[in-house]
Amino acid sequence: MPVAERANLEGLTFWVKTFGCQMNFHESERVSGLLEAEGLMPVGTPDEADVCVFMTCCVREKADTHLAGQVSAMTSAPAPPSGRRIVAIGGCIAQRDAENVRAAMPRADIAFGTQAIPRLPGLIERALGQKPGTLIVDVEEPYDAFSADLPQHRTDMWRAWVPIMYGCNNFCTYCVVPYVRGRERSRPAAEILAECERVVTSGAREICLLGQNVNSYGHDLENAPSFAELLAEVAKTGADRVRFTSSHPKDLTEETLQVMARTPQVMPHLHLAAQSGSDRILAAMGRRYGRDDYLALARRAHEVVDGLALTTDLIVGFPGETEEDFRATLDLVGEADLQGAFTFIYSKRAGTKAASMPDQVPGEIAHERLERLAEAIRDVSAKAHASLVGTSVEVLVEGPSKRDEGVLVGHSPQNFTVHFPASAGRGARELTGRIVDVDVEEARSFYVRGHVRGEPR
Ligand code: SF4
Repeated sequence: MPVAERANLEGLTFWVKTFGCQMNFHESERVSGLLEAEGLMPVGTPDEADVCVFMTCCVREKADTHLAGQVSAMTSAPAPPSGRRIVAIGGCIAQRDAENVRAAMPRADIAFGTQAIPRLPGLIERALGQKPGTLIVDVEEPYDAFSADLPQHRTDMWRAWVPIMYGCNNFCTYCVVPYVRGRERSRPAAEILAECERVVTSGAREICLLGQNVNSYGHDLENAPSFAELLAEVAKTGADRVRFTSSHPKDLTEETLQVMARTPQVMPHLHLAAQSGSDRILAAMGRRYGRDDYLALARRAHEVVDGLALTTDLIVGFPGETEEDFRATLDLVGEADLQGAFTFIYSKRAGTKAASMPDQVPGEIAHERLERLAEAIRDVSAKAHASLVGTSVEVLVEGPSKRDEGVLVGHSPQNFTVHFPASAGRGARELTGRIVDVDVEEARSFYVRGHVRGEPR
């Protein structure tokens, strides 16, 4: 269990910027909780902050690029009231390549790895005593600490991410996660259930169980429940909604589908990463399932779980991908009856097997394929949204739309985004965190719109 390092940072202000996956967002909540416990105060903009923390992601290239830009913008930003700003780079990029942080972000003061979160207060205290830009590096292994044991500042009171395991054993040939987050370590079930009960008591209505590969939960523990058994227990802790991510097709079990089918609290949404529809590319990616396995699983999931929405991740431009391979991916979208997908262009990650594979696909071809795939995904999403028109969906309200304060946003059980107009006495203040029924009147590519009917719950 990590013991947070004590430091004397009382009265300083901090700001955290997160890139990448939900695990990173969750860890940012732990960073915020830890810094608040040390007496630092959160602020809304980097300009006001004495300590700026960037939680980085090296899975998505765009995140890398945005990060370097933002850190360099810190250099020209006015100094905070204390006169000294500490810039700390955490997450995968720091863990993978602290030297790169030194070269690409000379203004950074701290590079702290995925295991160093509990030590962050002490690192900040040390950095305050050093010249600006003298990089302190803490990327120590082994990977045995759980940031879940640290205090947490939840971004949304009505939704909680609860990590059930860290790391990954799969070594897909394009992925750095096993290198930057270590091998799979599951949290004991009793600890997970106690945390779920705690977050429900503190107001969470939705719990999302997190792990790089949740379906292999417990394989590293003695007498641990299966993931399906754990899911069924979490559903009894009082949350209105339970979700989970991510699922690997080779580990998703019939038992999990059965728990989803018979447990009303477990939402009918499954995010099952296919990555490609081509057997040749799946083998080169080291995914350990084939196209037919994925399709059979998708069919079975739709059969077992009533009203299931199935979404996925797809990569285009993996080394050696031909037009024929790409078409197999394109066809998978319809054949698997997908309702949505995140699409990515393959991006070379240093240290992975795929980075040294021959036949890297030229950028313009990969972009052209991404565009065609995105169009196919837009079509299936639009179809899924159109099928909701004329129905009523339960929505957990998340707050106002970023673009229009007069519109409230939430998600349906299938995880579709739902918009509806706020009205007198039924604005963000009254409805955020409540569950409402929305009569769907209109479908768009990325969301549906409607009106609230009846009383919020
Ligand atoms: S399953 Fe593959 S893609 Fe997912 S985290 Fe593990 S190695 Fe990476």
